[in-house]
Amino acid sequence: MAKAWHLMQRPKGKPTHDDVALKEIELAPLEDGMVHVRNHWLSVDPYMRARMDDTDSYFDAFKLGQPMDGGAVGEIIASKADGFEVGDKVLSFAGWRDEAVIPAAGIHKLPDLGVDPYHFLANLGLTGGTAWFGLMDVAEAKAGDVVFVSAAAGAVGSAVVQIAKAKGMTVIGSAGGADKCAWVKSLGADACVDYKNGSLLKNLKAALGDVGAKGIDVYFDNVGREHLDAAFAIAEQEARFAECGMIDGYNHEAPYGFKYIAYIIGKRLQLKGFIYTDYQPRMGEFYAAMGPMIASGEVQSRETVMEGLDSTFDAFLGLFSGANTGKMLVKL
Ligand code: NAP
Repeated sequence: MAKAWHLMQRPKGKPTHDDVALKEIELAPLEDGMVHVRNHWLSVDPYMRARMDDTDSYFDAFKLGQPMDGGAVGEIIASKADGFEVGDKVLSFAGWRDEAVIPAAGIHKLPDLGVDPYHFLANLGLTGGTAWFGLMDVAEAKAGDVVFVSAAAGAVGSAVVQIAKAKGMTVIGSAGGADKCAWVKSLGADACVDYKNGSLLKNLKAALGDVGAKGIDVYFDNVGREHLDAAFAIAEQEARFAECGMIDGYNHEAPYGFKYIAYIIGKRLQLKGFIYTDYQPRMGEFYAAMGPMIASGEVQSRETVMEGLDSTFDAFLGLFSGANTGKMLVKL
């Protein structure tokens, strides 16, 4: 019998195990145009927290009492769809479960690039694509820019650090803890601030001094709140902010009291939010740019892997306590 994680009640603040349940599910009959997929890898992502709320968002809320979904990589074990054979590796949105019978129209057969298929959930997928388009297109970053990226030891952030270095930028990261900062620097970052140790703003100013810069030209925001406020404070005139995520606020209901927000005006800052799926039509461009950087080792990947469907919710919760370095994945 297949199993799936269900949302049982909408979380208040940080989600808990009372909000979800792992339950057996009846699979749909395999009809024409459908495939039966067994998942091997599940992605857990911060945006799923917003889908647990019933608020107006760019993404549908999870339905109460129903299975949740999300990115997954698996293998076809039965097919009634032309062009999809048993054994094909596929990327689907039938995550948070071990098996699914789904229309083939909504899944992607993975090209054989000689890499483990889980990369299509990470540097060759949502997180790498978000890093690439957010940095190069949204922020229009270019060689010589000083780039500040928060959550730099996470999936998106670690890709941003490496792409920025590969493109000739100076990079300051921030991450929670000395070990994570050491890893961020090993990826090429010129400086990394441990935001859990002392004043973030003071330490960012010190990092600017260390890299010989007066301010930042680009802020790649994964965190929001205090990090975003600090970025306003250290921004150069006309700095570009790629507003990717605000994980520091996802479990907070109270608004944050920004001190430096008015700098947007005097410094003529340009803030632009974006969603990865905006760039779906340009994935070919992304593969062409990112593929060789991954193949050559210029962009490395690291995963934090939790084992088994039972661990999926803990893996998700771990995103909010910094349990992951690199991409958080669940291996089934
Ligand atoms: P991730 O960075 O791999 O994992 C989350 C990391 O965020 C944690 O490891 C933790 O690292 C940090 N974090 C958690 N709570 C924090 C807090 N209160 N303050 C500061 N840091 C905190 O996750 P990801 O998938 O790469 O996503 C990163 C951001 O990008 C998220 O905000 C996500 O929503 C956003 N995103 C946006 C898009 C889009 O289309 N716009 C697509 C993908 C992701 P530390 O140990 O360093 O604290």
